Amino acid sequence: MTDSTDGFFDNYGGKYVAEVLRRPLDELEAAFRDAMADRKFLDELSEIQRDYIGRPTPLYFARTATQILGGAKIYIKLEGLANTGAHKINNAMGQCLLAKRMGKKRIIAETGAGQHGLATAAACANLGLECTVYMGEVDVRRQQPNVAAMEFYGAKVHAVTSGSRTLKDAVNEAMRDWAANPDSTHYVLGSALGPAPYPDIVREFQSVIGNEVKKQAQEREIKIDALVACCGGGSNSIGFFAPFINEKDVRLVAVEAGGIGPDAGQNASRMTGNAGKVGIMHGYKSRFLLDDDGQALATRSISAGLDYCGIGPQLAALGESGRVEFKSALDSEALDAVQFFAKNEGILFALESAHAGAQAIKLAKEMGKNQTLVVNMSGRGDKDVFITSPVFRKDEWLGFLHSEIQRLEKSTDIHDADLMGAR
Ligand SMILES: *Cc1c(COP(=O)(O)O)cnc(C)c1O
Repeated sequence: MTDSTDGFFDNYGGKYVAEVLRRPLDELEAAFRDAMADRKFLDELSEIQRDYIGRPTPLYFARTATQILGGAKIYIKLEGLANTGAHKINNAMGQCLLAKRMGKKRIIAETGAGQHGLATAAACANLGLECTVYMGEVDVRRQQPNVAAMEFYGAKVHAVTSGSRTLKDAVNEAMRDWAANPDSTHYVLGSALGPAPYPDIVREFQSVIGNEVKKQAQEREIKIDALVACCGGGSNSIGFFAPFINEKDVRLVAVEAGGIGPDAGQNASRMTGNAGKVGIMHGYKSRFLLDDDGQALATRSISAGLDYCGIGPQLAALGESGRVEFKSALDSEALDAVQFFAKNEGILFALESAHAGAQAIKLAKEMGKNQTLVVNMSGRGDKDVFITSPVFRKDEWLGFLHSEIQRLEKSTDIHDADLMGAR
């Protein structure tokens, strides 16, 4: 199974939207099919992937980790080396280039932690498009480093004050904007979910990850037995898995955020926890974390990027059919995996990706020495210093923050005034 059939993957997917959004979605689908059949568009995208994003990203043999664990050979797809630090740029760039081809001048996007907003803002800066990012007011406050980066790239960050003032409200606000401005504006959705055709579009732009792995493995005569990826909405995992779905001897393992435990409110596990239910939200049918009234449950994860209540419809279908195996990793296991790969390989996983890293550590030990697994490091961990430092070195971090605040409050000299005036 690759493309959807009329927007559905078995029972999941669809296009559950207000009437006003039907035409823009149909136009988007037609434009996407047209672009993907156009050599010129594909060549332009390849050139951007090579020169701006920095593709192909390396397929790295983790020799020391493999030796220590004593099982399967571990390879790491270093997707975090992509420009802007994670896989999200693959989709953001693809969609922005498509929007430009459609004659759109204005881009909107939703963002939770800010990673997708950041990637979209960078893509817009690169292609000369106007960019507005919808972000819940709560998230704007707690994700200032990403807000600052988006503004550097010239995007307008719109703080959403409705509802819980987090990601799901930002999605609603972005959809409202798109419904009001469908002719001038393209909505860049950030994961392989939402109404059709988004799950197909996002998978196609992210499948550059899996296609590269396949080619890199063939060139080096590596036979892959398992692929492991973390799963929030599901864009890095479905892009990694897509070219291997029909290769039945390759195990596909997706890892959800297990948070602090299996019960409702403790995690973001739609497939593996105790609270995942079938539902319809944000324009698509899939598995969501819902309460008894069908309302979205609060999710919990140490990694902001996995902290979403829904999962892409294709992955939900692949999970139910058994083709994709779903696992979860606890916050504590993800933190251990960050340390393990940092100390032993000099590679700093993002907390999201470290959920896949944690599962790779377990799986490698169960598999034979003559077998091979590839784990996707969807992002690098530099961005997580505000989360990892308070865990690993709380006192030093507190001291640092106190002294930074004092320094800023005290400084009134000419250089600081200049810095402020520069805005
Ligand atoms: C956003 C994010 C994820 C989760 O999103 P998917 O759509 O499931 O890929 C994973 N890793 C990183 C580094 C992210 O920024």
